[in-house]
Amino acid sequence: MQISDDGCFGGCGLAALEARAKRELELLSYPGRDWVLPREAPDGSKALNVLVIGGGQGGVAVAAKLGLERVSGVRVVDANPDGQAGPWVTFARMITLRTPKHVSGPDLEVPALTVRAWYEAQHGEGSWDTLGLIPKETWNDYLCWVRRMFGVDFSPQTRAGAIHYDPRSGLFRVPLSSPAGEQSVWARRVVLATGIEGSGDWAVPAIIEQALPKERYAHTRWPIDFSALKGKRIGVIGAGASAFDNASVALESGASEVHLFFRRKRLVTVNPYRWAEFVGFLKHHADAPDDQRWRFVQQIVRMGQLPPADTFRRASEHPGFHLHPGCGVDRVVATEHGISLSAGDQSYDLDFLIAGTGFVTDLSRRVELGELEGKLARWKDVYTPPAERANADLERHPYLGSHFEFTPRSSEDAFVRYVFNYTFGSWLSMGFGGSSISGMKYSVARIVAGITKSFYTEDLEQYFQALERFDTEEFKVE
Ligand SMILES: Cc1cc2nc3c(=O)[nH]c(=O)nc-3n(C[C@H](O)[C@H](O)[C@H](O)COP(=O)(O)OP(=O)(O)OC[C@H]3O[C@@H](n4cnc5c(N)ncnc54)[C@H](O)[C@@H]3O)c2cc1C
Repeated sequence: MQISDDGCFGGCGLAALEARAKRELELLSYPGRDWVLPREAPDGSKALNVLVIGGGQGGVAVAAKLGLERVSGVRVVDANPDGQAGPWVTFARMITLRTPKHVSGPDLEVPALTVRAWYEAQHGEGSWDTLGLIPKETWNDYLCWVRRMFGVDFSPQTRAGAIHYDPRSGLFRVPLSSPAGEQSVWARRVVLATGIEGSGDWAVPAIIEQALPKERYAHTRWPIDFSALKGKRIGVIGAGASAFDNASVALESGASEVHLFFRRKRLVTVNPYRWAEFVGFLKHHADAPDDQRWRFVQQIVRMGQLPPADTFRRASEHPGFHLHPGCGVDRVVATEHGISLSAGDQSYDLDFLIAGTGFVTDLSRRVELGELEGKLARWKDVYTPPAERANADLERHPYLGSHFEFTPRSSEDAFVRYVFNYTFGSWLSMGFGGSSISGMKYSVARIVAGITKSFYTEDLEQYFQALERFDTEEFKVE
């Protein structure tokens, strides 16, 4: 337990911690000058310097870090109501985070803004030591607090549409829809922090979609009325954490039995994400050559995803829970009163199916990229892996520059370098950057360094002229 001279951190309350945080930000405030040169938009308004689309942990951290780097004119928009950004209090059905509590990130290395300091300030001495994993609601509260402490300009219930580039002004026009109506904003740079599925979309296998009416299945991302599953026989497809979370909620809501089907011969029990949590990979995967980046990420994909231990226990402790390894689903039929499903040469009669099948990476599915996606380089445009490492999903990943910026398929579209991808789709290029707490400590600094570099290098001439004009005398010579 860190107890400072004035006895802060240990249960002395949030107010004292907030005062300490403000003090630390003040101590770290060099250089203090706003420096990004303003732009007037074609409609006469002052263009934003950066529009951040998505107000989850990623978007807020990028905006906060830009603030610390004295970039003004940064606005974050999020489609969800205030306090409901991301999965934490919307569709996540886990009890706690899956990541260990010591993983930091949104604090931007300001000690008083760490989740531990915030937790201890409220729950007192020793509270952190007795905390296991962080409850998801607690994490969400922490993210809202950090956002407030960094003073991020945040607009909830505001959905961004297709990003439009205006070559005459060199600016992006982005339509925003909110309860207040439709408006357009102009920005010099755009950051996509639209979530884990932000470079594609959640995906229901065609074998389900084509066979069943909508009322007989759902994806783990969708709202599900679990009370309606009481006494029902449920099938869950997939063996990742969300598949197990949804199986547990169905059983806890009174489902009579849950059958979880997955293709691998046995459940994955080794988590490559834990291996990856060291400075080398987190900070420098993006600096490795293409073939090495592909090799590492493909190996992580091969190793597979798993439910955290307590998530596995939560489901498997139920007498109604049935695990079916080596059971790829090969037939789904709607019957008069339910579903007939075949997997691993067995057939099962079920009432409802839950697809724990995650998301696919496919930029053409993103509304925000409607006008741009055809111009954006993918890995398949740049790198051909050896046959034994072929992977269709990885090929579709955006081939990003060294600071999360998109790269163009053709040099005439160089402007796409002013749009930054801070979603999970960045991981082949950047490692654990967007959409994972594990990668935030290094990825936020990298994307922000890319944005500030782009401002400085774009306006070098103006900065030189300002230097030439600079005539503030240090002293007078009489
Ligand atoms: C169920 C679940 C559990 C997870 N658990 C963990 C975990 O324990 N540890 C971990 O490290 N990672 C976890 N992750 C992965 C990742 O950390 C989270 O997905 C996290 O929410 C990513 O943060 P983000 O800011 O990138 O995206 P989000 O938190 O998803 O925020 C993106 C926001 O963008 C908004 N948005 C999207 N499109 C638009 C648009 N066009 N206009 C305006 N707003 C838009 C969305 O409304 C959303 O609020 C989990 C993911 C899921 C789905």
